Amino acid sequence: MTTTNQNQQRIAIIGGGPGGLTLALILQRNGIPSVIYEREREDKSHERGGSLDIHEDSGQQALKEAGLYDEFQQAARYEGEDFRLFDKTGKAYIDEVVDEEVPGGHGRPEIDRGVLCDLLLSKIDPAIIRFGYKLDKAVSLPDGTTELHFQNGIVETADLVIGADGAFSRVRPLLSNTDVSYSGLTMLELNVIADLHPDLAAFNHRGKMFALDDNKGILGQLNGDGRIKVYASFKAERHWIEESGIRADQPQEAKKQLLKIFKDWDESLQNYIRYAEDSILPRRIYMLPVGFTWQRNQGVTLIGDAAHVMSPFAGEGVNLAMQDAMELAVAIVRNKDQAKAIEEYEEKMYEYSSEKARESNDNLILCFSENAARKLSDLMNSYLERSNESVPAE
Ligand SMILES: Cc1cc2nc3c(=O)[nH]c(=O)nc-3n(C[C@H](O)[C@H](O)[C@H](O)COP(=O)(O)OP(=O)(O)OC[C@H]3O[C@@H](n4cnc5c(N)ncnc54)[C@H](O)[C@@H]3O)c2cc1C
Repeated sequence: MTTTNQNQQRIAIIGGGPGGLTLALILQRNGIPSVIYEREREDKSHERGGSLDIHEDSGQQALKEAGLYDEFQQAARYEGEDFRLFDKTGKAYIDEVVDEEVPGGHGRPEIDRGVLCDLLLSKIDPAIIRFGYKLDKAVSLPDGTTELHFQNGIVETADLVIGADGAFSRVRPLLSNTDVSYSGLTMLELNVIADLHPDLAAFNHRGKMFALDDNKGILGQLNGDGRIKVYASFKAERHWIEESGIRADQPQEAKKQLLKIFKDWDESLQNYIRYAEDSILPRRIYMLPVGFTWQRNQGVTLIGDAAHVMSPFAGEGVNLAMQDAMELAVAIVRNKDQAKAIEEYEEKMYEYSSEKARESNDNLILCFSENAARKLSDLMNSYLERSNESVPAE
């Protein structure tokens, strides 16, 4: 690695997802060079995951710090905050339509993951990104630096290594023996082209639809590219996918089997499976223990999913990844002493991320319990009442 910053520190960011890209961009804006090592041969963010809601107090703050807030506002879908909640009979518990006249909506506009990464990439010096660098292992050296061994055979050394390499981080083992565990939730990701199915598009509205019952769920989410991403979700044993006989390489058959599993669900909900294109992506949802911390190392730290992967039921994953990136970058800029910067960042991050991890885990349990739709609607209404109470009367 050849790049050095003012203090001759070589900063290596492993992973070019939303967290790693945000970090590199904020450092760049502050004149601090870094290098991103990304395992994919090119940017694959359009193929990975769907629409993300970006929160006012975290993801949006990071975008401001990265100098991208105006561009984000133009690309964001404020109407994507619409939310509908049903049980399996099609009984509606929540039917929220965002008033487009209200500036900023509810403060959680949607953007597709690919569009978000494109925005970040558009401002990052392309010379600092190395595609096709999959980290195999990282080794701490006696002088406090870290040796990075990539699958392409190249070995680099860095003074500060930041693991932004997601749930299955190869950097995390330098800091802890704790590994991710299966959360008990399995999802099968499907896609419906909204324009081809106007009845479903009308049912789904412009944002998210959750149908929850019998420890299962059908979740729909309209993306900016016109696809409705569908997650057929189950509380299930770790090897349920293999044991169920549902095979992603036989999508037609798999859809028939899925429809059997949801056979007593309302037609309008079954349509999310019936109308799906012929591709199915199984996803086991993994998590780190709530409140996960590690042995401090002044040359290595983690951000985003590498630091605190959690189930997506608080909608916080990408927001935390970007907030971590901002907090770490600001700490590096503020402190000449790298050890101090890491300490400052980690202490702050442990506090806010553990709170969100707890919330996410509580929501996961609630969403796959008995009478989940009613319970989730009660919870959301109580949040709403509390936030209305905290608005001072005019
Ligand atoms: C089904 C699902 C739905 C979700 N919905 C939401 C939502 O609605 N809202 C929300 O906020 N979050 C959601 N999330 C979570 C969100 O996608 C993640 O929290 C977020 O992407 C984390 O960003 P990150 O940059 O930390 O890691 P990632 O996005 O995982 O990026 C990691 C990057 O590192 C690269 N990489 C991995 N290993 C290596 C290696 N060994 N060497 C080099 N590079 C490597 C990867 O290719 C990738 O580019 C969802 C997740 C799932 C699975």
